[in-house]
Amino acid sequence: MVGMEELRELSRLIKKLKEKLNRLRKEKKELSRQGFTIRYVKCGKETCKKCTQGEGHGPYVYKTVREGKKVKSVYLGKPKDFEEKDREVMEHLKKIDKEIHQAEEQLNHIKRTLNRLINDIG
Ligand SMILES: [Zn+2]
Repeated sequence: MVGMEELRELSRLIKKLKEKLNRLRKEKKELSRQGFTIRYVKCGKETCKKCTQGEGHGPYVYKTVREGKKVKSVYLGKPKDFEEKDREVMEHLKKIDKEIHQAEEQLNHIKRTLNRLINDIG
């Protein structure tokens, strides 16, 4: 049986998760303004679970760089392609992305559980 105190606790948890998500998404947006982006890549194999059931391989971090008039996207995963200061940003962005996914999953789990409860009420 779910008591009122549990519901209040859940409500606090939802609020905290939403605040966390907002903060992380803002930070990710700020980094993308600086030219850093996250990508997931599909390998195309029909048997690949990551691609067929998930969003693909990654997260891979790219940085937009200017070469004369050309603007290109450089994959920061290869050691030769990144400078030491970019490594920190890359690791940070990967961490943010992971935390966003975790918070979203937690919220979705709560939503599904609440929906089941509501359905039980009828
Ligand atoms: Zn794949």
